[in-house]
This record gives sequence, structure tokens and C-alpha cells, in this order.
Amino acid sequence: MAYNDLTPEEAYVILEKGTEAPFSGALNSNKETGVYTCKQCNTALFDSESKFDSGTGWPSFDDDIAGAVKRISDSDGHRVEIVCATCGGHLGHVFEGERITPKSTRHCVNSLSLNFIKE
Ligand SMILES: [Zn+2]
Repeated sequence: MAYNDLTPEEAYVILEKGTEAPFSGALNSNKETGVYTCKQCNTALFDSESKFDSGTGWPSFDDDIAGAVKRISDSDGHRVEIVCATCGGHLGHVFEGERITPKSTRHCVNSLSLNFIKE
């Protein structure tokens, strides 16, 4: 499979599991209708319907597209990392039980890990 070329900033987040600065991402406040895809392999990961404003400074989704996102327990035993199930690219972390939305799930994702395709 051919992957998209990444900028140094994108590679830091996607390949080295870095985190972009909060409120720095281009998609944090995006409210348009469409689909969010993996920057590295173009797999559809999140639908705009699941996006909500968490106030954290990172794009937040209370659901993922079935089978597109894989969960991995962090070595610190506290957080759960989420990666693209297709290419393994780092997306961010998932948090449950915060009751911000009815699904009580927050996928906290770096803008740099995503592309947005407007409907
Ligand atoms: Zn991917």
C-alpha cells in the first residue's frame, strides 16, 4: 500500500506518537459536514456527526467508524491510545466515562493525524 507523504510535524505525531499543541490544529473547531480520514492512508475514521466541542483544544469524537480505529493500552496503564487500524498511524487517545455526551466516549485526536473531506 502506498502511503501519503508526511510533513515533519505530521510524522512527529503520526509515526512518533507525538501530540500537537492544543487549539493549534486546523480541524479543532471545524463544524462542517463530512468525513475525517487518516492523513497517512486515507481510511475513513470519524464521521462529522460524532464530532463535538469538548473544550480541550483537540478534535473530539464520541464514536468512530466501525472497525477503523484500534485501541492500545498505553505503557503507563492509564490512557488508551488510538491508532488507525489500517496503517497503525497514531491518532490520539480515547477516554470513557466523562459523560460529556450521551455515549460518554471521547476520542481525542490530533488535527495533524486527519484530513477532512467535506460532504
Ligand atoms: Zn491510516
